[in-house]
Amino acid sequence: MTLTEKVLARASGKSHVNPGDNVWVNVDTLMTHDVCGPGTIGVFKREFGQTAKVWDRNRLVIIPDHYIFTADSMSNRNVDILREFAKEQQLPYFYDVIDDPEGHWKFDAGQGQLKKQYGSRYTGVCHTTLPWKGHTRPGEILFGTDSHTCMAGAFNQFATGIGNTDAGFILGTGKLLIKVPESMRFFLEGKLPAGVMAKDVILHVIGEIGFDGATYRAMQWEGPGVHSMSMDDRMTIANMAIEAGGKNGIFPCDDKTIDYVRERVAENGTKSDFDPVELDAAQSFIYDQRFDLSKLEPTVSCHPDPGNRKRAKELEHITLDRAYIGSCTGGKTSDFLAFAEVVKGKTVKIDTFGVPATTKVVQELKDTVWDGQTVWQILENSGVRLTENASCAACLGGPVDTFGRLNTPMKCISATNRNFPGRMGNKESQVFLASPYTVAASALNGHITDPREFIS
Ligand code: SF4
Repeated sequence: MTLTEKVLARASGKSHVNPGDNVWVNVDTLMTHDVCGPGTIGVFKREFGQTAKVWDRNRLVIIPDHYIFTADSMSNRNVDILREFAKEQQLPYFYDVIDDPEGHWKFDAGQGQLKKQYGSRYTGVCHTTLPWKGHTRPGEILFGTDSHTCMAGAFNQFATGIGNTDAGFILGTGKLLIKVPESMRFFLEGKLPAGVMAKDVILHVIGEIGFDGATYRAMQWEGPGVHSMSMDDRMTIANMAIEAGGKNGIFPCDDKTIDYVRERVAENGTKSDFDPVELDAAQSFIYDQRFDLSKLEPTVSCHPDPGNRKRAKELEHITLDRAYIGSCTGGKTSDFLAFAEVVKGKTVKIDTFGVPATTKVVQELKDTVWDGQTVWQILENSGVRLTENASCAACLGGPVDTFGRLNTPMKCISATNRNFPGRMGNKESQVFLASPYTVAASALNGHITDPREFIS
């Protein structure tokens, strides 16, 4: 069996499953956020009763992260609905925006967008929070009411996005009926050359198979190239499985995975035991392809979809209005460090927005010192508008006052993961997806730029 089949077989109590089988699986973790949480709670209460209790309060994680730093009152209210539910159900894993369990969340636009407006438990983007807070474990099943839940596949998990109805059902039962997907194998060999990042790998692969090339399939990553990658790199790749239509992305478990997970579950006191799924000698794939990482170049997914792949150096004629670094995919500490490496001591030519994925990323950028300056200062000194309010922000547009939102037609190069029309705001805008290196180099030149111009 493939890795995905093995996780699904175990979770359904079967010795073997085949692609196409429909199986009931026991859910290890369910995650929801401020956009889909209120709807999920509504389904749960309607179907299981106003006083029903969730199936297991230790397996539910609620992370407000999407429409947080906005004066939109309905968005603020969504966070209050989550707080009321967390209180009612006595949930241990609700990462609230404010500290007062009786309070109401209200964003104060008068303080501006840059200075922090959250309490001690707030974390930021859900998919980056889950591993940080010790909620991702090898061999387990994670469902989330968000399409990029597939990011946790980096940890040898079956992780996928679901709708509010399915999530409401899980809240009441802890189970879900799921069809076993066919698996595709992406076997990575060689090492990434200078200036090329994990983001380029996934943009290249989606360009190969198309934005619907993995529809309802598992994208399994294997090979020596995988083991040379950090966990952040694997997260970037797994995150974008859905941009090829994939049901999930999944990586083998190695020492890096185990060390990362053990450290986080110990730090947070979350469940510490787990049982990875190992690679079988006999696996059957619907697609099986090798990729030599050393041949890859800085890659850009052009408007209007993530499969519209070109090499950065072919696009130098495209002038830009904005650059953006942030999101679950591109707002990790390692992403900002790569960006800072390029812009250090230089000045960006276009409006450039930086939104750390989590509050931990904010702290790490302020704690990391290069040549007497923190990375946070290096970024600010280069002209990046950097906010302490970690969140999804303009990755998905959001209310009109969202930090970095594209409110007029413009061309933006972005370290995020999705570029369908209107994704970051204005429907006439064009979004070009790229690595943090490429976004940084392009911000410096004001047009799409191969970052190797700045990296030796
Ligand atoms: S950062 Fe963007 S892709 Fe990630 S969860 Fe938020 S909106 Fe979705």
